[in-house]
Amino acid sequence: MKALIATALLFVGSCATIRHSEKIDNLKSSITYDNKAVVENYLNTINSADLKIHLEEVSSDKYNGRKTGEEGHNQVCDYIRDYYKNNQIIAPESYSNYYQKVPKSALPDGLNDSQNIIAYIEGSEFPDEYVFISAHSDHEGVIDGQIYNGADDNGSGTAAVLEMAEAFSLAVKEGYRPKRSIVFLHVTAEEVGLHGSRYYTENPVFPLENTIATLNIDMIGRVDDRHIDNENYIYLIGADKISTELHYIAQSANKTFVNLNLDYKYNDDNDSNRYYYRSDHYNFALKGVPVIFFFNGEHEDYTKPTDTADKINYPLLEKRTKLIFATAWYIANAETRLKAEII
Ligand SMILES: [Zn+2]
Repeated sequence: MKALIATALLFVGSCATIRHSEKIDNLKSSITYDNKAVVENYLNTINSADLKIHLEEVSSDKYNGRKTGEEGHNQVCDYIRDYYKNNQIIAPESYSNYYQKVPKSALPDGLNDSQNIIAYIEGSEFPDEYVFISAHSDHEGVIDGQIYNGADDNGSGTAAVLEMAEAFSLAVKEGYRPKRSIVFLHVTAEEVGLHGSRYYTENPVFPLENTIATLNIDMIGRVDDRHIDNENYIYLIGADKISTELHYIAQSANKTFVNLNLDYKYNDDNDSNRYYYRSDHYNFALKGVPVIFFFNGEHEDYTKPTDTADKINYPLLEKRTKLIFATAWYIANAETRLKAEII
């Protein structure tokens, strides 16, 4: 009798497992790029030379380390904004100058008013559904007379967002407007506690319930110690925490276009670094928005004045940017809206 019960339980258990793995298989096989050649065409406009131009600009000494509320950061924000203007990528109606003011009352004591930058491409079929691509624009400023250039942190993410925006806007000009709207968000005050992204999610320009994913980039231009022998990698954090579908979309994008090694070490809830909680995507996740944090891990120049543009691995930055672009393309153009559910 005992044995029989045990067998019956085992049977039920394995059925549930089969059903679950079937669901996952069905989900995975549903994620395909029907128009691979089209995506590849725009993906291939993302190149290390352009990324280098943007990264060298935003991390240059003239911006004095881009500290929130300071002149250097305001000037780099102007550079970013002008780029959107020049590429005819529009500002939201409510912030027609691209700047969402983040008042000093929303920032730690001693900082001046600052701003998030918001630009977007309106979708053709579902314009009220929004895919976000985000990166923080600020860094540490000047400390003890030394400029903290923040080339990787987060010149790399800033350059990647600009380069993807150009690729998407080129696609629009050639008749491939995304089905859903794509929002390019450069948040301020990350280094002092994720305040820019918190301010955005407390004062959203586009409804959070229709914000279907946020792809956040914070440091994707370098290689950490764990990957010195094989630099063809990127860490993905958070992808499966709110949407199983998002997790597999990123995998499909990777397999179809770039073949990086996707490293999930820091996606582990028990990892002591707790990176999931440490960049701007987390404020979106708190509101139930599916997120992915794209990250290269820490390195010897992390949060040091030696994080400079000459140390960036530009071909790798290009490859990682392409992965994010392909992921965003899929979410923005899928027949059905990304599901915020765990399977
Ligand atoms: Zn950062």
